[in-house]
Amino acid sequence: MKVKKVKKVHKQGMLDNVMRQFNHAADIIGLNKNIRKILEVTNNELVVHFPVRMDSGEVEIFTGYRVQHNNALGPYKGGLRYHPTVDIDAARALAMWMTWKTSLAGLPYGGAKGGIELDPKKYSTAELERITRRFTYALGDNIGPELDIPAPDVNTNAQTMAWILDTYMSTKSPNERSKNLHVVTGKPTGSGGSQGRDRATGYGVFLTIKFWAAHKGLDLTGKTFIVQGFGNVGYWAAHFLEKEGAKLVAVQDASGTLYNEDGMAADELLAYAQANNGNVEGFAQGAPMANEDFFGLECDICIPAALGNQITALKAPHIKAKVIAEGANGPTDVEAEKILLERGVDIIPDILCNAGGVIGSYFEWLQNRNGELWQMDEILQKLEKKMRESYDKVQHTALEQNLDMRTAAFVIAIERLEQAYTQRGIFP
Ligand code: GLU
Repeated sequence: MKVKKVKKVHKQGMLDNVMRQFNHAADIIGLNKNIRKILEVTNNELVVHFPVRMDSGEVEIFTGYRVQHNNALGPYKGGLRYHPTVDIDAARALAMWMTWKTSLAGLPYGGAKGGIELDPKKYSTAELERITRRFTYALGDNIGPELDIPAPDVNTNAQTMAWILDTYMSTKSPNERSKNLHVVTGKPTGSGGSQGRDRATGYGVFLTIKFWAAHKGLDLTGKTFIVQGFGNVGYWAAHFLEKEGAKLVAVQDASGTLYNEDGMAADELLAYAQANNGNVEGFAQGAPMANEDFFGLECDICIPAALGNQITALKAPHIKAKVIAEGANGPTDVEAEKILLERGVDIIPDILCNAGGVIGSYFEWLQNRNGELWQMDEILQKLEKKMRESYDKVQHTALEQNLDMRTAAFVIAIERLEQAYTQRGIFP
């Protein structure tokens, strides 16, 4: 009973955070009250319960979600996560963040998010494939290449997207099949995926840190950083920071925390984790340390790249980093943010910092739609251009209106939506 309560508080936290962030920015710009009413609720919420046969022969029932927050600027867009903390409130919060993220990035997309409440470590690959396919079938035509386009998120990857694509296409008539390649992004490159989509989020995180450092007149060479979560985002961010001469001094994932003041090699850590069920625990270059001391470690840059609500008011006073680069969605809660800003810690907010992922998705979607294949260097250049434009806009608004970076990012995102609603009016 007690355990359930704790879980619920944690989950509700993300929705509460995103609403507070939204309301704060909406107050600052004096957002039209009718547009505010529209944006503070989600357009559509789908909850599906579906049966899947396990390897044992038993049938298990799963619960999946897809929340479509807003599509004023284009089709719904956002990832699917497989995690025990997935529920309707988490999906709502994450869908809202997607709306602000795509709006800020200037993409022709709205925001959505979803997933399945499960711990993927408990299932075989064959089971995960059947779960994914049956979930896709249950979503039916509520997703679609011009309607709602899922992508990878926590514990889902290119393989998951390939299963979704194949299942979705299999339900279409032969004549329609090949027109649906862009129903998901983040696919394997052999199945309509784009060069660079794998590293797009982490590269974007790295770029925002590079822009931040340049703005502060700092050199990244010799700077130390810590990463929470060594999945796709954490690894690629570490890889690019290391190439720039920065040092990965600590890493934390669900298996434990490792520390080495001389630095750990990101590529070797990835190879180790891949051979170790995705876990960093036991990697010889780092010494194990207490999980609760992670965020208080001496470092220059802190990259939360795991789940939401990791940096709370309890942790914020101990943070030594000069900047927090939010690779994850919603890693810093509102109370912690107040403390950090007062202490002079900069926060590169999630909707800016991790937007490289959805920008990479947009490039993939465009290529699929137009039958084009872009080269890696071209894609990384385009990504850098988009990230820089967003970063500069946020920086400019923050300085001009004396706002923190998150509020500035929300102001830009909401103003773009407000303009669309003002121009179009409300049907009927
Ligand atoms: N899941 C990623 C995010 O939170 C990517 C979404 C996408 O590419 O649609 O931004």
